Amino acid sequence: MRDFSQDHDWLSINTATVRKQRGAEVPLDRIIDQCAERGVRAISPWRDQVAAVGLDKVAKQLKAHGIGLSGYCRGGFFPAPDAAGLKAALDDNRRAIDEAKTLDAPCLVLVVGALPGALDGKAAYKDLGRARSEVRGGIAASLDYAREVGMPLAIEPLHPMQAADRACINTLEHALDICDELDPERSGMLGVALDIYHVWWDPKLQQQIARAGNQRLLAYHVCDWLTPTRDLLSDRGMMGDGVVELKKIRGWVEAAGFAGFSEVEIFSALDWWQRDGAEVLDTCIERHKRVV
Ligand code: ZN
Repeated sequence: MRDFSQDHDWLSINTATVRKQRGAEVPLDRIIDQCAERGVRAISPWRDQVAAVGLDKVAKQLKAHGIGLSGYCRGGFFPAPDAAGLKAALDDNRRAIDEAKTLDAPCLVLVVGALPGALDGKAAYKDLGRARSEVRGGIAASLDYAREVGMPLAIEPLHPMQAADRACINTLEHALDICDELDPERSGMLGVALDIYHVWWDPKLQQQIARAGNQRLLAYHVCDWLTPTRDLLSDRGMMGDGVVELKKIRGWVEAAGFAGFSEVEIFSALDWWQRDGAEVLDTCIERHKRVV
C-alpha cells in the first residue's frame, strides 16, 4: 500500500468540496487557483462549474497549472418517461463525453439516474425495473460513442437511499454485473467510480473490489460517514470524522491494482461549505496524509 503520509501527490479535489465557501458559490477558476497554490495535482470538476467559466478557458488554466483530472462529473441520468426523453439523455451524455475529452479526463463519471422526475418529487413512473433497463440501454449506447473517442465511462453505484431519485445501481456488484455484460473483454473503457460514502457498508465490498480489478477501478472517492447523518445528500464528513475504515478500504483497492488518486468529495451544506475554502483545502491535505 502506498505511503500517503509524506506528501499529497495522490490527492485529488472534487470541486464540489469547495464549490461553496462561507455559504457562497465560488467559481471554478478561483478553485483551480486555490488548488494550484497548494500543489494539488488533480481535480474533478462538475459540468455546470466548467460551463460557468467556459470549457476552453478551464482547459487552458488547468494546463498552465499542470493540474490534471481524476474524473469528470458527470454523465448519466438515462431513464426518461418517453422516447424523446431517452434520446435527449443520450445526446447530453455525448456532449459530456466530448467535454471530458477536451479536459483530458481519465473517465466520465456516471450517476446513472433512477425514476425520471423523482428528483423534483414527481416520478413519471414507479417501475424500478424499467429504470434499470433504461439505464442499461443508455450505458450501452453511450459506450459505443465512448469507445469511438476513447473516453472510459465509470459507473458510480450510489447508496440505496438514493435509488428512487439519483441512481438505481446501488451496489458495486450490480455495477460490475453491467460492466461484465457490456464489456466482457475488460477493455478499460467501462468500469466503476468507487465512492466510499455509497459503498462502505456493503458486506461484499472487499470481494467485489477484488473482482473489479485494475481494469474496472477507474476512480476512488473519499469522505466519511457521520453519525448521525443529518442530511442524506449533503452531510458528508471530512475523512477521519466518521466511521469508515478508510485505510482498510484503500488497502483492498490497491491490492486490486488501483494506483490512482484519492479524490476528496464532500457535500456539506451544514459544515464545510460554511467555512473558508483555504481551511477546507488545508484540512483535506492534512487528513489525506493522516487518515486516508
Ligand atoms: Zn462520488
